Amino acid sequence: HIKQQGKNSYQFYNDEVKAIFERKVLLEKELKKALQNEELYLTYQPKFDLTTHEMVGYEALIRWNNPHLGQVSPAEFIPLAEETSLIVEIGEWVIENVLQQLSHWKQKGHPLLKVSINISNIQIKHEQFLDTLTFYMQEHNIAPPYIELEITESLTSDDKKTIPLLEAIKSHGVGLSIDDFGTGYSSLHALNHLPIDTLKIDRSFVKDMETTKYGTDILKSMIDIGKNLKLDIIVEGIEKEEHVLLLKKLGCRTAQGYYFSKPLLPSEIEEYFLKKMPVAVNRPSH
Ligand code: C2E
Ligand code: MG
Ligand code: MG
Ligand code: MG
Repeated sequence: HIKQQGKNSYQFYNDEVKAIFERKVLLEKELKKALQNEELYLTYQPKFDLTTHEMVGYEALIRWNNPHLGQVSPAEFIPLAEETSLIVEIGEWVIENVLQQLSHWKQKGHPLLKVSINISNIQIKHEQFLDTLTFYMQEHNIAPPYIELEITESLTSDDKKTIPLLEAIKSHGVGLSIDDFGTGYSSLHALNHLPIDTLKIDRSFVKDMETTKYGTDILKSMIDIGKNLKLDIIVEGIEKEEHVLLLKKLGCRTAQGYYFSKPLLPSEIEEYFLKKMPVAVNRPSH
């Protein structure tokens, strides 16, 4: 009987591994065609000022709708795109699209707000990256201060090329933000070595505020570190009014999360503008 059970669980494990592998193969195959088949699109999640409730900017978040697979999360397909180097092409498509969108909104007379673009480590290290970025900024006539790149801490300083690269990006006037701050292995080290403007504190710290003994103290300490280093701070994953109240008490000014808004389609962002909802134009920083 025991032997039988062992065999079953082995079989089960085997089936599961096989299913994971097969999905990966299918995803890779479909992802290769996603760009030319126009299956990718962008959503924009607003960022808000906690005190004035003005929209101060937004983050571009990629979406993939495939006829066979349905909606696939970027958390699943971006790592695959990174493995297959497709990320360089997809990342360029994101940059081009975002700048086109901003230029479109500008031409329609909507306020120009700062946009954040998520950049993969592989994409940023590609030798054409900075040329590509500056090319599209010029082509669509968008000034660098309206662009912020969200990078992760894993782009650490042990790679000697990283810091000169980030400095070159910054010398063009483009902003740099550390995404998911606090979840990497070298958070504080990164702060001391990377030329960044903004700390984007990971949403797990918001959850910890409610559920753990020192959650609030840790979040407060992170906000204070950012302030001491003259960095802008934004907290992600705000889902409730209590989060807003607590963050305001901790001295945080900017936040993002489902409580304010989920990621929106460009048409929904336009509706927001058309309704003359409050936006913060020409705000120098977060
Ligand atoms: P991220 O950059 O940390 O983005 C935040 C993620 O949290 C987004 O998931 C967003 O929809 C979600 N989110 C926003 N507010 C809340 C909230 O209040 N509660 C919760 N639970 N979640 C919230 P999404 O859009 O699925 O993106 C997942 C990740 O995929 C992103 O994490 C980013 O690392 C990556 N990604 C998305 N778009 C791009 C892209 O264009 N390029 C690259 N390289 N990566 C991207
Ligand atoms: Mg991000
Ligand atoms: Mg994040
Ligand atoms: Mg995250």
